[in-house]
Amino acid sequence: MWDSVPDGPATAAASAAISAGAAAHAWVLLGPRGAGKMQVALAMAAALTCRELPGLGCGRCGVCLRIARRSYLDIHHIAPEGPIISVEVIRTIVIPEALRSPFEGGRKVFVIEEAERMNPQAQNALLKTLEEPPLDTVFILLCDQEDELLETVRSRCRALRLEAVAEGEVVAWLERRGAPPVEAAWAARLAGGDLDRAAGLGLDPEAGRRWRLFAGMGARLVSPVDALDAAAEVMTEASAASKARARAQKEEVEELAESLGDGRGTATLRSALARRHKRELRRAEEEVLIEALEALGSFYRDVLTARAGPGGSVANVDHAGAVEKWAASEVSSRALVEAMHRCADAPNALAKNANPTLTMEATLVALARLVPAAESPLPATAP
Ligand SMILES: [Zn+2]
Repeated sequence: MWDSVPDGPATAAASAAISAGAAAHAWVLLGPRGAGKMQVALAMAAALTCRELPGLGCGRCGVCLRIARRSYLDIHHIAPEGPIISVEVIRTIVIPEALRSPFEGGRKVFVIEEAERMNPQAQNALLKTLEEPPLDTVFILLCDQEDELLETVRSRCRALRLEAVAEGEVVAWLERRGAPPVEAAWAARLAGGDLDRAAGLGLDPEAGRRWRLFAGMGARLVSPVDALDAAAEVMTEASAASKARARAQKEEVEELAESLGDGRGTATLRSALARRHKRELRRAEEEVLIEALEALGSFYRDVLTARAGPGGSVANVDHAGAVEKWAASEVSSRALVEAMHRCADAPNALAKNANPTLTMEATLVALARLVPAAESPLPATAP
């Protein structure tokens, strides 16, 4: 199980603390997006729960595998629904579930994703439970933006800081999980230390295909009309990803029904699962939109890199022809920087619940105006 994250000091520290029995009952994992916080949280949950290799997690038993698939009943995943985690979620789900005895007789673990998105009321509501959690309950808060966590919450948790992962380590990690070397190198360079992104690009052929499509879109934005066409294409991809996720969820519901029967607490679990699924569908769609914006941004960054001279290396190697052509064109570097900012800002609007279609349309139209592609079609690039 620990192999699911790159070997690093933070992983080693968590492992050592847990196996020494000195585990805190509340942890906060700090670090930039994609630093592997969820992977570490799942590994910690396995270490706390696995009966084959207590304190470490064997990574192979039924418990470890279900934790990795996020279908183990006593590992509760809490994440923002819309822009925030509301006080209601803390009062009606987290606290009652923390007080309930575990379904499978071991420990209960609450993994709170983007914990900084708990609004102050929600954070305050959680304080007392964080300080004195019921026996056998462990909280793991994941946090990208430390300064948005109340000091009172922060100080009740043992902190573990994760850094962005070095490119070489990401390559090795992807290869260990079966990515072909060329694909691993491509994904690691584009991910820039973001382990989640790297895993998507390097291990999921669908995500790799989408990225190549999106990165090539910049070269097609001749006019606002093209921008609207491209936005529609992005939305179609997003909805396809959401449908694929819905199919996987159906299987998960069947698996849960099988393992549960009609026992105690069934209704609560079913409703928690339904909430999580609804959230995941929205997120699956949003992830594709963010992917599109990042891929486009990386294309403009490549053009700037190519302009800077032979020292820098282009990340989107399969669009190298288009990158070179743009680098030699009259598009100003200032406009390219502005285009990168547009791509980087749009996900914030999505996080604040802006209409996804309108956000994509507005962003791509702005890009078509800022850095219009040349009228003459660029040479097609191999997928
Ligand atoms: Zn195990």
